[in-house]
Amino acid sequence: MYNLVIFGPPGAGKGTQSEKIIEKYNLAHISTGDMFRMHISNDTDLGKKVKQILADGMLVPDSITIDMLEEEVKSKPDVKGFIFDGFPRTVPQAEALDKFLENKGLKINLVLQLDVNQEIIKERIAERQKVSGRADDDADKLVKRIDEYFSKTIHVLPYYQSQDKVTKVNGIGKIDDIFEQISSAIDNTI
Ligand code: ADP
Repeated sequence: MYNLVIFGPPGAGKGTQSEKIIEKYNLAHISTGDMFRMHISNDTDLGKKVKQILADGMLVPDSITIDMLEEEVKSKPDVKGFIFDGFPRTVPQAEALDKFLENKGLKINLVLQLDVNQEIIKERIAERQKVSGRADDDADKLVKRIDEYFSKTIHVLPYYQSQDKVTKVNGIGKIDDIFEQISSAIDNTI
């Protein structure tokens, strides 16, 4: 199994690049953001619990997120590997994921860091909101999400750097050019 984490701030292009990675490398995509939005639109118990948290641009508590993620991984035993998109977003999530995979004799093979500056993020999300209608794409909610990223999520990077797993890719430029850099990082670690 080959397991990849795609890492970066909101609006870095994780979803866009994930789609291309899935197509080329045939990995299963797990986006915790998409999963939460699915629960919310289906009005499940979990959806009810997290609806306001997402709308406010805050992180969902680790225990809820980790349980949901582990269930999803367990439900797909026959895949070639996973691409984790939007997870882990905190160091405890990263530690939980390592433990969980280790128990299965698996590991994270690569962490792809999509590097994008804050100006670009704000521009992209303002554009995206015109079509996405996502409540958390509002300017004030976006500030909160960027805050959460720099206070909690950024620390996931040194966690994986100490394991020598991070490859940084410039997330600004043409989608296909970025994907080419991503492909070579994957080819080097697969
Ligand atoms: P973005 O485009 O900001 O990267 P996502 O679609 O990945 O957004 O996530 C949207 C929201 O879902 C986050 O702002 C957060 O509320 C919640 N969420 C997603 N993944 C996680 C996670 N790993 N831990 C906590 N909350 C999460």
